[in-house]
Amino acid sequence: MYNFYIRGTRGTSTMCGQKYLKYGGHTTCFSVHTALGTIVIDAGSGIVNLDKDLHTQHDHRSITMLFTHFHLDHIVGLPSFTPLYDKNATISMMADSARPDNWKQTLTTFMSKPYWPVKLGETQAKLEFKDLPTDTSSMEIYGLKVSWFKVPHPQQSLSFKIDDGTTKTIIATDVEYPSSKINPEFIRFCENADHLIFDSQYTEEEYQCYKGWGHSTWEAGANICKAASVKQLVLFHHLPDRTDDEIDEIVSKARQEFRNTVAARPNMML
Ligand SMILES: [Zn+2]
Ligand SMILES: [Zn+2]
Repeated sequence: MYNFYIRGTRGTSTMCGQKYLKYGGHTTCFSVHTALGTIVIDAGSGIVNLDKDLHTQHDHRSITMLFTHFHLDHIVGLPSFTPLYDKNATISMMADSARPDNWKQTLTTFMSKPYWPVKLGETQAKLEFKDLPTDTSSMEIYGLKVSWFKVPHPQQSLSFKIDDGTTKTIIATDVEYPSSKINPEFIRFCENADHLIFDSQYTEEEYQCYKGWGHSTWEAGANICKAASVKQLVLFHHLPDRTDDEIDEIVSKARQEFRNTVAARPNMML
């Protein structure tokens, strides 16, 4: 049993203003709440929405942070995440050791002077860095089965699947699959999922100009959902300047291809 929240929805950079209120301007962050602890996936600016809830729920003692990758829009909220400064909190940070960079070094450099006054590792929380195991592609965290799958994206990214035996939710942000060329193994990874949160940054027309930039389209998401019998498609990683009206339009087009489609909104619970 878990409660899953989307905390930040926007791709690449934050956005604010009247035209972006419905679908939000904060970047990637998700949280999964169980009786045993909280899993945070990515630490984009949307982590502030999680922070507010943790303050009221007092359930931030045991946290596992999983990172899809380390582009700025996925880590920019980390330094101000308040559980880092709580001496009663235990935080495990986990990512793929097979990445081309040393991810622990990347995070430590990002959160250190002159970029931030307090160094990662010198805050009050009990902090540990752990590589995701390399001999398997799943592990148990707080009673949930968490699986991962490497997806194509500059500097590499991971897709995560969260499964409690009843509900399967897949996070596939920052992934580039052309709509007509989807890796069959990824389709297998998505098979019979309840929700596929999918990188739908571009329209098909836009994608023709941005091949190789690491992002996909709603058409690709709809094709995966149909091929893998996924119940719901959640469009995610909205283009920074895509307005609420434009996203509404995309959702209605996508529903003609795959009926149960929604667009990610801040603090949306799945
Ligand atoms: Zn991103
Ligand atoms: Zn990225």
